Amino acid sequence: GADWGRAEAIVKEVEDASATPIPRLKEVADSLAHEMEAGLDSDDHDHLLKMVITYVHTLPTGDEKGLFYALDLGGANFRVLRVQLGGKEERVIDQEFAEVTIPTNLMVGTEKELFDYIASELAKFVKKEGKKFSPESGHQRELGFTFSFPVHQTAIASGTLIKWSKGFAVSEMVGKDVVVALKKAMERQGLDMRISALVNDTVGTLAGGRYRDEDVMAAVILGTGTNACYVEHADAIPKLKGPLPKSGHMVINTEWGNFWSPHLPMTEFDKALDAESINPGDHIFEKLISGMYLGDIVRRLLLRMAVEAALFGDNIPSTLREPYVLITPNISAMHQDVSSDLEVVENTLKNVFGISNIPLRTRKLVVELCNIVAVRAARLAGAGIVGILKKLGRDVIGASGKNRTVVAIDGGLYEHYPLFRHNMQIAVKELLGSEVSETVIIEHSKDGSGIGATLLAASNSQYS
Ligand code: ADP
Ligand code: MG
Repeated sequence: GADWGRAEAIVKEVEDASATPIPRLKEVADSLAHEMEAGLDSDDHDHLLKMVITYVHTLPTGDEKGLFYALDLGGANFRVLRVQLGGKEERVIDQEFAEVTIPTNLMVGTEKELFDYIASELAKFVKKEGKKFSPESGHQRELGFTFSFPVHQTAIASGTLIKWSKGFAVSEMVGKDVVVALKKAMERQGLDMRISALVNDTVGTLAGGRYRDEDVMAAVILGTGTNACYVEHADAIPKLKGPLPKSGHMVINTEWGNFWSPHLPMTEFDKALDAESINPGDHIFEKLISGMYLGDIVRRLLLRMAVEAALFGDNIPSTLREPYVLITPNISAMHQDVSSDLEVVENTLKNVFGISNIPLRTRKLVVELCNIVAVRAARLAGAGIVGILKKLGRDVIGASGKNRTVVAIDGGLYEHYPLFRHNMQIAVKELLGSEVSETVIIEHSKDGSGIGATLLAASNSQYS
């Protein structure tokens, strides 16, 4: 049977190595704020945080009117969306969307094949535009393009692809302007539409959040990956050249997935995961926090317990050695298993690893491991949010009194994992203290990025 003494010693060891007490989280938040500052200074050095200038300096006000489209490409599925905006009074009058899966062969084919496919699906969607939607007569239709891959943005509606991720590998596209690629493909489809804004998902979420609540100052994505953007003072961005935007503001995409600090509580499991990943040394913050990785961290813990404490008997199930078989939805399901005999844990271990007849004591231990990994992730995400608040000077009550600050969050990890949300919220509260935390509101902005892209198309319309 299992060596319980050894098993418990390993749990204790992992627990200690993963601990996120408040002083440590404060160091993480401080060092994030510090790295943000460094990244704003220049692009010359190899800063941890890219702090990308998005060229979005006017955010939605609610006055936006008319018909606008959005195209959201960030993974194997893309979404097309249209909204009829009615200004302050009528708000979003109508909206429709369609979701399309990109055939895997197109994800690794040519630019023309990929973009022709996307443009043809968009054209089909536009053809189905019903009477509820009305473009202004004589006006060209306009589109906001949400593109969630690393881009070197050069203007609100242009940016060159730095590299693909998430299974895409259309290598001839790297270094090229993605707006031009889409525009040419739309022309080949005979689709007359202007691409008015190129944004990533965090910026779309920020815009969508701001439309509903004028105190939204930052947006965070917690999904397969993680990232955050926020509204910075234009004069606090030394690397921003040329005349400052009239609004006095600029949205900065932090690309915080790549954050690293010696204060991050990394264990041997995290180090091994990183070393065996496709981007070793990169995106450490993301590897501790986001949905792509939490399952695999727990798998590595289980494997060590199986090897060293015979947790699943004398034969080590070979399935435990398969990278990424245990996924984050499995973790949240087991972690939140409320059945008295932990049935969900039993079924998950059976379905994923083919392990059966697991005693209750072992199931409880598995829940404990999920808890350690998820709580650490949630608290680090909370520290990240506080780091941004710090950079904004909103982690204290200002001289002008209580400023309300809203952070809009979206992504599958946040949406579908209540215990993650709860632990993140607790960490933010502990870090800020009760008085300040009353002024900070974290809200779920579901699918805000699609609407956000239409709103940014409106703010950047050729007719406004
Ligand atoms: P993406 O980040 O790829 O744009 P989503 O925002 O929809 O997409 O997030 C998907 C991710 O959310 C998945 O990769 C998974 O890690 C995480 N996720 C999905 N469902 C759950 C769940 N039930 N519990 C925890 N995490 C989940
Ligand atoms: Mg997404």
